[in-house]
Amino acid sequence: MDPYSIFADIIAGRAPASRVYEDDDVLAFMDIRPLTPGHLLVVPKIPARDLGELDPEIGGKLFKVAQRLAAALRASEVACDGVNFFLADGVTAGQEVFHVHLHVIPRTPGDGFGLRARPRTPPRADLDYLAGSIRGALDRGPR
Ligand code: 5GP
Repeated sequence: MDPYSIFADIIAGRAPASRVYEDDDVLAFMDIRPLTPGHLLVVPKIPARDLGELDPEIGGKLFKVAQRLAAALRASEVACDGVNFFLADGVTAGQEVFHVHLHVIPRTPGDGFGLRARPRTPPRADLDYLAGSIRGALDRGPR
Protein backbone atom coordinates (compact mmCIF):
# COMPACT_ATOMS: atom_id res chain seq x y z
CA MET A 1 0.00 0.00 0.00
CA ASP A 2 1.27 3.46 -0.89
CA PRO A 3 1.88 5.38 2.33
CA TYR A 4 0.31 8.41 0.66
CA SER A 5 -2.80 8.85 -1.39
CA ILE A 6 -4.60 12.14 -1.78
CA PHE A 7 -7.89 10.25 -1.60
CA ALA A 8 -7.00 8.91 1.85
CA ASP A 9 -6.59 12.52 2.95
CA ILE A 10 -9.93 13.47 1.42
CA ILE A 11 -11.68 10.53 3.13
CA ALA A 12 -10.13 11.47 6.46
CA GLY A 13 -11.11 15.13 6.00
CA ARG A 14 -7.46 16.27 5.93
CA ALA A 15 -7.81 17.55 2.35
CA PRO A 16 -10.72 19.53 0.91
CA ALA A 17 -13.24 18.00 -1.47
CA SER A 18 -16.73 18.80 -2.70
CA ARG A 19 -18.55 15.83 -1.20
CA VAL A 20 -21.73 14.51 -2.74
CA TYR A 21 -22.40 11.20 -0.96
CA GLU A 22 -21.02 9.28 1.98
CA ASP A 23 -21.83 6.08 3.89
CA ASP A 24 -19.80 3.69 6.04
CA ASP A 25 -17.94 2.19 3.05
CA VAL A 26 -18.09 4.67 0.17
CA LEU A 27 -17.41 8.35 -0.50
CA ALA A 28 -18.28 10.27 -3.67
CA PHE A 29 -16.93 13.73 -4.47
CA MET A 30 -16.39 16.06 -7.41
CA ASP A 31 -13.33 15.42 -9.55
CA ILE A 32 -10.99 18.39 -9.21
CA ARG A 33 -10.30 18.37 -12.97
CA PRO A 34 -13.67 17.38 -14.43
CA LEU A 35 -13.72 15.88 -17.91
CA THR A 36 -17.27 17.24 -18.16
CA PRO A 37 -19.24 19.39 -15.67
CA GLY A 38 -20.47 17.22 -12.78
CA HIS A 39 -17.72 14.56 -13.11
CA LEU A 40 -17.69 12.51 -9.88
CA LEU A 41 -15.35 10.02 -8.27
CA VAL A 42 -16.65 7.15 -6.14
CA VAL A 43 -14.08 5.63 -3.80
CA PRO A 44 -13.95 2.92 -1.13
CA LYS A 45 -13.12 4.25 2.33
CA ILE A 46 -10.87 1.27 3.01
CA PRO A 47 -7.84 1.84 0.78
CA ALA A 48 -7.26 -0.53 -2.12
CA ARG A 49 -4.58 0.36 -4.66
CA ASP A 50 -6.25 -1.46 -7.51
CA LEU A 51 -8.98 -3.99 -8.37
CA GLY A 52 -6.80 -6.85 -7.14
CA GLU A 53 -6.84 -5.37 -3.64
CA LEU A 54 -10.51 -4.35 -3.67
CA ASP A 55 -12.98 -6.41 -1.64
CA PRO A 56 -15.60 -7.47 -4.24
CA GLU A 57 -18.38 -6.64 -1.77
CA ILE A 58 -17.11 -3.07 -1.62
CA GLY A 59 -16.72 -3.06 -5.41
CA GLY A 60 -20.41 -3.88 -5.66
CA LYS A 61 -21.19 -1.00 -3.34
CA LEU A 62 -19.15 1.39 -5.51
CA PHE A 63 -21.27 0.43 -8.50
CA LYS A 64 -24.49 0.73 -6.54
CA VAL A 65 -23.62 4.25 -5.40
CA ALA A 66 -22.48 5.20 -8.91
CA GLN A 67 -25.80 4.01 -10.29
CA ARG A 68 -27.68 6.29 -7.87
CA LEU A 69 -25.35 9.16 -8.71
CA ALA A 70 -25.97 8.69 -12.43
CA ALA A 71 -29.70 9.13 -11.81
CA ALA A 72 -29.03 12.15 -9.57
CA LEU A 73 -26.85 13.77 -12.24
CA ARG A 74 -29.65 13.47 -14.77
CA ALA A 75 -32.14 14.97 -12.30
CA SER A 76 -29.82 17.74 -11.07
CA GLU A 77 -28.83 21.02 -12.71
CA VAL A 78 -26.08 19.08 -14.50
CA ALA A 79 -29.00 17.90 -16.64
CA CYS A 80 -26.93 15.41 -18.63
CA ASP A 81 -28.66 13.01 -20.98
CA GLY A 82 -26.03 10.27 -20.75
CA VAL A 83 -23.45 8.94 -18.26
CA ASN A 84 -20.22 6.97 -18.64
CA PHE A 85 -18.62 4.91 -15.88
CA PHE A 86 -14.86 4.54 -16.16
CA LEU A 87 -12.29 2.81 -13.97
CA ALA A 88 -8.57 2.84 -14.70
CA ASP A 89 -6.87 -0.25 -13.21
CA GLY A 90 -3.11 0.03 -13.55
CA VAL A 91 -0.72 2.54 -15.09
CA THR A 92 -1.23 1.19 -18.61
CA ALA A 93 -4.96 1.74 -18.23
CA GLY A 94 -4.36 5.36 -17.24
CA GLN A 95 -4.54 5.04 -13.46
CA GLU A 96 -2.87 8.01 -11.78
CA VAL A 97 -4.17 7.83 -8.22
CA PHE A 98 -3.54 4.48 -6.56
CA HIS A 99 -6.69 4.29 -4.52
CA VAL A 100 -9.43 2.58 -6.57
CA HIS A 101 -11.96 5.08 -7.92
CA LEU A 102 -14.91 4.81 -10.25
CA HIS A 103 -15.38 7.84 -12.51
CA VAL A 104 -19.00 8.89 -13.11
CA ILE A 105 -18.92 11.16 -16.13
CA PRO A 106 -22.05 13.04 -17.21
CA ARG A 107 -22.50 13.31 -20.97
CA THR A 108 -24.15 15.92 -23.13
CA PRO A 109 -24.10 16.10 -26.91
CA GLY A 110 -20.85 17.55 -28.27
CA ASP A 111 -19.11 17.57 -24.85
CA GLY A 112 -15.86 16.38 -26.45
CA PHE A 113 -15.40 13.34 -24.20
CA GLY A 114 -14.72 9.98 -25.81
CA LEU A 115 -12.60 6.85 -25.75
CA ARG A 116 -10.01 6.43 -28.46
CA ALA A 117 -9.68 2.88 -29.78
CA ARG A 118 -9.30 0.93 -33.00
CA PRO A 119 -11.80 -1.94 -32.77
CA ARG A 120 -11.21 -4.87 -35.10
CA THR A 121 -13.39 -7.84 -36.02
CA PRO A 122 -11.24 -10.93 -35.33
CA PRO A 123 -12.21 -14.40 -36.58
CA ARG A 124 -14.52 -16.38 -34.24
CA ALA A 125 -11.68 -18.86 -33.66
CA ASP A 126 -9.55 -16.10 -32.11
CA LEU A 127 -12.45 -15.02 -29.87
CA ASP A 128 -13.06 -18.64 -28.82
CA TYR A 129 -9.36 -19.20 -28.09
CA LEU A 130 -9.10 -16.19 -25.78
CA ALA A 131 -12.47 -17.00 -24.18
CA GLY A 132 -11.04 -20.42 -23.26
CA SER A 133 -7.90 -18.88 -21.85
CA ILE A 134 -9.90 -16.43 -19.73
CA ARG A 135 -12.27 -19.22 -18.55
CA GLY A 136 -9.23 -21.20 -17.44
CA ALA A 137 -7.88 -18.23 -15.50
CA LEU A 138 -11.30 -17.77 -13.86
CA ASP A 139 -11.29 -21.41 -12.75
CA ARG A 140 -7.75 -21.15 -11.37
CA GLY A 141 -8.57 -17.98 -9.42
CA PRO A 142 -6.35 -14.94 -8.81
CA ARG A 143 -2.58 -15.32 -9.04
P1 5GP B 1 -7.21 8.21 -12.80
O1 5GP B 1 -6.44 8.74 -13.99
O2 5GP B 1 -6.30 7.69 -11.73
O3 5GP B 1 -8.30 7.27 -13.19
O4 5GP B 1 -7.98 9.48 -12.23
C1 5GP B 1 -7.55 10.26 -11.17
C2 5GP B 1 -8.56 11.37 -11.05
O5 5GP B 1 -8.41 11.98 -9.79
C3 5GP B 1 -8.39 12.47 -12.11
O6 5GP B 1 -9.59 12.62 -12.84
C4 5GP B 1 -8.02 13.69 -11.29
O7 5GP B 1 -8.56 14.88 -11.81
C5 5GP B 1 -8.59 13.34 -9.93
N1 5GP B 1 -7.87 13.97 -8.82
C6 5GP B 1 -6.53 13.96 -8.63
N2 5GP B 1 -6.22 14.62 -7.49
C7 5GP B 1 -7.40 15.04 -6.96
C8 5GP B 1 -7.72 15.79 -5.78
O8 5GP B 1 -6.87 16.20 -5.01
N3 5GP B 1 -9.04 16.02 -5.56
C9 5GP B 1 -10.01 15.60 -6.41
N4 5GP B 1 -11.27 15.90 -6.09
N5 5GP B 1 -9.74 14.90 -7.53
C10 5GP B 1 -8.45 14.63 -7.81
